[in-house]
Amino acid sequence: MNEVPHAMTINGARVFTSNVDLVINPATEKQICAYPLASREQLDDAVRAAQKAFISWRDRPLSERQALVAKLADLIQENQESFIRLLSTEQGKGRAAAEWEIGGSIHWLQEVAKQSLPNEVVVDKGDEQIVTRHTPIGVVGAITPWNFPLLLAVWKVAPALVAGNTVVLKPSPFTPLCTLWFGELAQSVLPPGVLNVISGGNELGQWMTEHADIGKISFTGSTATGRKVMASASTNLKRLTLELGGNDPAIVLPDADPKAIAKDLFWASFANSAQFCAACKRLYVHEDIYDAVAAELVAYAKTVKMGDGLADGVELGPIQNKMQYDKLLNLLQDIKANGQKVLLGGEAPGGKGYFIPVTLVDNPPEDSRVVVEEAFGPVLPLLKYRDIEDVISRANNTCYGLAASVWGKDVSRAEAVASRLEAGTVWVNQIHVFSPGLAFGGHKQSGVGVENSLHGLAEYCNVQTVIRKAAASA
Ligand code: NAD
Repeated sequence: MNEVPHAMTINGARVFTSNVDLVINPATEKQICAYPLASREQLDDAVRAAQKAFISWRDRPLSERQALVAKLADLIQENQESFIRLLSTEQGKGRAAAEWEIGGSIHWLQEVAKQSLPNEVVVDKGDEQIVTRHTPIGVVGAITPWNFPLLLAVWKVAPALVAGNTVVLKPSPFTPLCTLWFGELAQSVLPPGVLNVISGGNELGQWMTEHADIGKISFTGSTATGRKVMASASTNLKRLTLELGGNDPAIVLPDADPKAIAKDLFWASFANSAQFCAACKRLYVHEDIYDAVAAELVAYAKTVKMGDGLADGVELGPIQNKMQYDKLLNLLQDIKANGQKVLLGGEAPGGKGYFIPVTLVDNPPEDSRVVVEEAFGPVLPLLKYRDIEDVISRANNTCYGLAASVWGKDVSRAEAVASRLEAGTVWVNQIHVFSPGLAFGGHKQSGVGVENSLHGLAEYCNVQTVIRKAAASA
């Protein structure tokens, strides 16, 4: 990579705009470069190009589409180190986290390229045959957030293309660079118009959700924005996949071993500096082992270095943007103003960079902001419980339902608890196991539909029933 990538891709061509905004490195607050702000006309151009490309892309044999999607993985792999550095610079995450995301993007493209949806033969007798099959929708609008910019784009682009759709992809205005670059590279593999990448502010997302010629929106972001997406997608009854926020509980049962699980619980909560939809955001610990778990977590947290993601030994980066940083400062103030005790952290260091220290809040009230809200940053409430029925009802007492985890030596008991949690994914004695083959999506206000697996692939398709009879002959 000789320059920072910052062109949009529309109909196979690099497109620049006079209207731009800046991408900021959150660790230094220095500008990285300007990126284009697409106009409504440029969105129309991208949608038109995608519509035109759709006919021949849809009609191409599945095996050819799969092969081209697999080649997109090669493009990232050939530039892996540059992607890792660019991702860490624009998003802030530490090197290992950036490696995980870029490696994951490659893996997802490779694996989704092997997926297909079988036809279902409903009737096959004599001269009558009835088959249910899947057909692509048309132009998919993909809208992504800033916490895992490339991976979450791939989660949408790969199945959309394999299923035979064409795509207009819009990254978050905070982290457009890896996605714009991916779009540019992809043109060496895909026909023009099959994957268009345009950048812009939140209004561009809204224009996409209202656009009459986009047939489906696949959106990942906050629940508040998800509600707006759903409302404006009603204009032409778009298909929707919404991957939204979470306030995921973890429940530590009394037979768990505090020392053995402390490291996993730490990363369950703080991976990606806790800017993770499926992070543990409320940690419920049985009163018998509460103090021991708290002490082990504090001890482990002290060994983890926070700083500029590309610096040696750094495992936790800054908060990605000023808006989220200010929200977290406000949350820390609320904790202080309400006299809640912290076991670690609690004060932002100030200076350059949007750094919020790992903060462990000691058993705050169940209705406090740090418990009720999705912090989306490294501020975690530790909550004490005595009775299992009580903790299950507290864990479920939220409008969210993305994921949850249960930790304990008696696995059947832990699983029995997990099965009663209202969440799209429940892990037992582990967390954050994701795979192209596993459906991931939220219950309640954490989402609509799922991504990944054949269930996720089916969300990029219409269902078509073909009822066939042999022609009559005289
Ligand atoms: P956000 O909702 O602010 O923005 C997400 C995307 O939507 C951005 O590209 C933004 O420009 C665009 N957007 C903003 N307003 C829009 C509108 N009115 N119409 C259409 N698009 C619009 O979210 P964020 O702050 O970027 O991301 C953080 C949130 O995302 C958290 O709540 C997190 O839990 C959630 N998230 C969920 C998942 C999941 O899989 N469930 C994964 C990652 C993040």
